[in-house]
This record gives sequence, structure tokens and C-alpha cells, in this order.
Amino acid sequence: MRLDKFVSKSSQLNKQQVIDVIENGEISVNGESIKQVSYQVHESNTILFDNKRLVTRPFRYLLMNKPPATICSNIDEVYPSALRLLCQQQVENRDELHIAGRLDADTTGLILITDDGRWTFNITSPANLCPKVYRVSLSKPFKSELINVFSEGIQLQGEHKLTQPARVQPITEKQVLLTITEGKFHQVKRMFAAVGNRVIGLHREQIGQVKLDVAVGEWRYLTPLEIASFNKKAHNL
Ligand code: URA
Repeated sequence: MRLDKFVSKSSQLNKQQVIDVIENGEISVNGESIKQVSYQVHESNTILFDNKRLVTRPFRYLLMNKPPATICSNIDEVYPSALRLLCQQQVENRDELHIAGRLDADTTGLILITDDGRWTFNITSPANLCPKVYRVSLSKPFKSELINVFSEGIQLQGEHKLTQPARVQPITEKQVLLTITEGKFHQVKRMFAAVGNRVIGLHREQIGQVKLDVAVGEWRYLTPLEIASFNKKAHNL
């Protein structure tokens, strides 16, 4: 990790203060004063500021029920970031968090939030086959003969390969549960468009073993078991 990131994660200093203390030579790594913000350090190094050892804060893991008209980036754009719903009093250093696997602005439901990039990789890397379950509302009735087409993979416009096998469970004529293990751009909407239908409502209910259990706009910390469940590879649909 870069020295500036380490200092930021282990102190209450803001970005400019971090740069200043490093460039002023106030940070030492294993007994040597280091003035380079990009210097690579490891948690096992002895890193001192003001003669006190800096220790990074533990990682944080949360889930949220994302409301419509919010986005999954850290910066507000046309819509506000869903991270704004984490109030500063309860969740400090909100800008260190990111959302593991984005939803579109109009999609609602389960998002996972963390500052642990490796954990996020386990969820988002297609190689890990982490299942995500969506409740999909369609403009036209879903034809049950398409269940096999989804399980064999769908040819999306502009892609070379078929999608990974997906599972469709019809709920009503125009509503299905869809389980996929990838997260291509607008994947669910493009899968149904590819078979002549249109998604008019999309809600994520589950990621891996973690199920959405809070009201719209609410959030909670994950349990240790839920956190650990993403450290194993997820499997067949
Ligand atoms: N697929 C989509 O099309 N949109 C989402 O928000 C998530 C998956």
C-alpha cells in the first residue's frame, strides 16, 4: 500500500494534511524518515508519526437496500451517491468506502459496501462465480421455453462470448427471479432485450449467501459469517 494511503487509513488527517506530514519528513518507516507519498509500505512495517505507531483501522463491511434515483459511484452525478445514506455520525471516513458491484440508478436492492478491495474482488471477479439474484419485472410475459436458453448462455449485443449460465425462476407471467454470476454493463437488461423482452423493474435480492433484509434506504453491518462467506469460491447456480 502507498504510504499516503496507509497514513490516511490510520489517522484522522485529511488528504492535504497527510501529504504535508509526509513531505515534512514527520513519518518514519522502520526507523527511516520517508518523504515520498507513493512509497510502498506493508502493515507489518513500523510506521511512526509523532513517536506513535500508526495502525490501520479494521476493514468495514455493510449492506444497504439501495433506493431508486441513487448511483453506486462515490461522487454525486445526476443522482446522489447511495453512500450519502450512511450518515457521517454513524460511519466515519465514508470516502474510504466503495460499493462492491454497481447497480444502475433505476435498479433497487442489495448493495455491499466496504473498504476492503480484495474482498470486493471475490464478489465482482467473474472467475469466482459469485451468484447474484435479481427480481426482474418485464414488459411482456416470459416464455418458459427460454429457461434453457438462459441456462446455456445468451449472446449479448457487442459481446464475443455467450453469458455464463443463468438460472430463471418464473414468479408470475411478467416477473422472474434471475441468478447470474457476472456483472457486465447493464447485463440483466441486455439479456432480456436479447430475447425480445424489456426490463421495466429490477431489484437485487441476494449476493452469494447474503440476503437483503433491511427496508429501502436502510443499511446494517454484515455479520462475521456473512463477511467470511465471500472468501470461499461460490458455485453452481
Ligand atoms: N443488470 C442491469 O441491467 N442493471 C443493473 O443495475 C444490474 C444488473
